[in-house]
Amino acid sequence: MKIGFIGLGNMGAPMARNLAHAGHNVTGFDVNFDQAKACQDSLAVADTAADAANSQDVVITMLPNAAALNQVAVEVVPVMTPSSFFIDCSTVDIQTSKRVADMIVAAGLCGLDAPVSGGVGGATAGTLTFMVGGAANTLELLMPLFDIMGGRVIHCGDVAAGQAAKICNNMILGATMIATCESFALADQLGLDRQRLFDVVSTSSGSSWSMNTYCPVPDVGPQSPADNDYLPGFSAAMMFKDLALAHDAASMTNTNTRLCMLAFQIYQQFASKPEYAEQDFSAILNEIKNTSLKA
Ligand code: NAD
Repeated sequence: MKIGFIGLGNMGAPMARNLAHAGHNVTGFDVNFDQAKACQDSLAVADTAADAANSQDVVITMLPNAAALNQVAVEVVPVMTPSSFFIDCSTVDIQTSKRVADMIVAAGLCGLDAPVSGGVGGATAGTLTFMVGGAANTLELLMPLFDIMGGRVIHCGDVAAGQAAKICNNMILGATMIATCESFALADQLGLDRQRLFDVVSTSSGSSWSMNTYCPVPDVGPQSPADNDYLPGFSAAMMFKDLALAHDAASMTNTNTRLCMLAFQIYQQFASKPEYAEQDFSAILNEIKNTSLKA
């Protein structure tokens, strides 16, 4: 297939590479030219988003937020080939996802929202979980592409159901990362070895993705951003964005999500500190370690 891939950041670059390595003809674009240039070993690189989207069978977006998705959709939807496909893998709010879906349908295209879970490791290994919203027959046609980029594809329902699932998932992720870091901070104070805590929790009822796969302390568990000076990975700013999406969704639907609201406030404070915003979200361990209960 001829594929335009827009947004070649931490997630988009390895996803686009996997499609290219599987034999698809991929043209990428990123507003940050250095990001795009780094992919030139595997993909063609276009000068504009419209150039990347023009004459493709499928356009995939992997963008940081709703504003970027809106901007790209407005630019590329009008130049896309009739009946071609638009897959948005970014995490955005439900209203934006629905608005972009309307734009896609109005232009005679077929679209899916397909946000992901699994992090940069999953994107690189091609083992992402995709949560998909949109028509089942569109998903069926595009399944070969999802199979290259991911290990699991769940059809969550109609338009924007993928975003709803992603928001609910990341609400848990934010809260469990804080709980995992608090658990390491307490273990340190109690004189419990970090490796021993990992050995116990990762095989006990306290286990979670935050502990088992993305352990927030260096030199413990599988390789994670903690082993790389907390370079993202998944930035604190992105986690704050996702918790803000959950916060808004809960407010709009009048849902009691108190723990999520607290996680939202904790990441809001954390990500607003310039030294942390571009660090991985697991670096919240250091903030927890540097503050006391009485402070
Ligand atoms: P990133 O910031 O590393 O990458 C986003 C890329 O989009 C950047 O290279 C940026 O330059 C580019 N971009 C921004 N505006 C653009 C525009 N108008 N046109 C073209 N390119 C533009 O972010 P990421 O970590 O790759 O995350 C991408 C999306 O995936 C986000 O919505 C995030 O919430 C979601 N996500 C990330 C992870 C993760 O672990 N990083 C996991 C699951 C989901």
